[in-house]
Amino acid sequence: MNKSTRHAVIAGNWKMNNDRAASKTLIDELKPLVANANCDVVICVPFTDLEISLNETKGTNIKVGAQNCHYEKSGAFTGEVSADMLKELGVSYVVLGHSERRQYFGETDATVNLRVKAAIEAGLNAIVCVGETLKDRENGITSELVIMQTKIALKDLTKQQMKNIIIAYEPVWAIGTGKTATADQAVEVCKIIRNTVSEMFGDDVSNALTIQYGGSMNPKNCEELLSKEDIDGGLIGGASLKASDFAEIVDAASNG
Ligand code: PEP
Repeated sequence: MNKSTRHAVIAGNWKMNNDRAASKTLIDELKPLVANANCDVVICVPFTDLEISLNETKGTNIKVGAQNCHYEKSGAFTGEVSADMLKELGVSYVVLGHSERRQYFGETDATVNLRVKAAIEAGLNAIVCVGETLKDRENGITSELVIMQTKIALKDLTKQQMKNIIIAYEPVWAIGTGKTATADQAVEVCKIIRNTVSEMFGDDVSNALTIQYGGSMNPKNCEELLSKEDIDGGLIGGASLKASDFAEIVDAASNG
């Protein structure tokens, strides 16, 4: 299996942006622009925008995701939302292990693994983020770090469960900074991730796995990144907040 037979997925990560009215406006703009996409289109929105986003995307090809979920089903976890709660609402994707969660909210590889397992057991598709900081890259430990993050995040999953996993390679130094990894840098690490998954689950699983690049992807650089054999889509932050920019990226993935 190669890129042409893998699922291309473009997911927008709105982060903590857009109130309900802004969500409706953005989705209304986006709908016609991506209606003929030849890839999966996902918007990962704040919890408070999930309901309106699900309503506004009904009957369209846009799927709705959350940006985190807790690993327990219920209980004394003030401020948290479980994977089952997301599933019940109609959510189909969840971003897990984003570097902002790791940096600001104490997320560790071990808690990412717990969240991944909870999400998959609830029937969600998990977009699992891995990636090195600038310091890691300068210290020459990018591959070791990404291998470790991947191995721990996917620990205990079955081959069958891997069908609902997407990995997003997001170099932390490229997120929201306007600095993009070069296509060669991105591909090198995406290949390392695919090899790691192959070691863990076999070639059939790794060849079918969708691996996204994320980190300042925009209409100018998306074509080159998405044309690469091991990059099957993108996780898009800033550029997902503007319908025309996001749609250009969706177009590039559709043609990639
Ligand atoms: C992200 O938030 O996952 C991301 C890649 O952000 P940006 O595109 O703004 O760098």
